[in-house]
Amino acid sequence: MASDTAKPLIAVDRLTRHYRMGPQIVHALDDVSVTVNRGEFVAVMGPSGSGKSTFMNLLGCLDRPDSGHYRLDGQEVAGFSSDALAAVRNRSIGFVFQSFNLLPRQSALGNVMLPMVYAGVASARRVERALAALDAVGLRERAGHRPTQLSGGQQQRVAIARALVNDPLLLLADEPTGALDTATSLEIIGLFQRLNRRGITIVLVTHEPEVARFAGRVLHFRDGRLIDDLRQDAEVAA
Ligand code: ADP
Ligand code: MG
Repeated sequence: MASDTAKPLIAVDRLTRHYRMGPQIVHALDDVSVTVNRGEFVAVMGPSGSGKSTFMNLLGCLDRPDSGHYRLDGQEVAGFSSDALAAVRNRSIGFVFQSFNLLPRQSALGNVMLPMVYAGVASARRVERALAALDAVGLRERAGHRPTQLSGGQQQRVAIARALVNDPLLLLADEPTGALDTATSLEIIGLFQRLNRRGITIVLVTHEPEVARFAGRVLHFRDGRLIDDLRQDAEVAA
């Protein structure tokens, strides 16, 4: 993809999302402005309820802001219809969640192939590309296994392969190590680092400083506001 590397991948300007709860208004995201360049690995931190998931849902085109701007790869998407957002999501964004969200009756291969069905990839190519994605996460030999036949860390790697299979610009991960033990968390964060070195931009929510130290930049949220934006020398996972 020919694109200017200096151009921000994410440019968020005064982004605001409110929820009305009866007579009260919850400022889930309050006037947040931030820019993320291609190739960055950003951790998002903050206490529970500080707006991290709201921010990720907006970045991921799963939700629309009440006000503000969001340019993704140069395209203003804040005012897009839900169909247009779905198209952007499918083409440009991969998601990873704490709970893996794999289909239990599908094999690893079947789970990884699913986004290509929605993207209209020819069926002959799906298997080949899904196997390549499983290979990238070290699970090619487990392609035929169902989620229940895999460990938590392996299930998360399948979910990561699924997120990567349409070759997205951006990988969004909301607490991807939240359900994993420490050793497995480090394995997963090491995998994110390898994928990031190969060029994918990553934004990852975590409440664990042990995980955030592997990112090159940490955004801190509190009460829906971005209160800190720190660059750091990322520790390298073994
Ligand atoms: P975090 O991910 O940091 O825990 P969230 O982004 O989920 O925080 O939530 C931020 C605030 O917005 C919280 O006060 C939460 O209760 C509120 N909130 C989030 N989603 C909704 C919703 N769909 N309806 C009402 N309030 C919401
Ligand atoms: Mg959350």
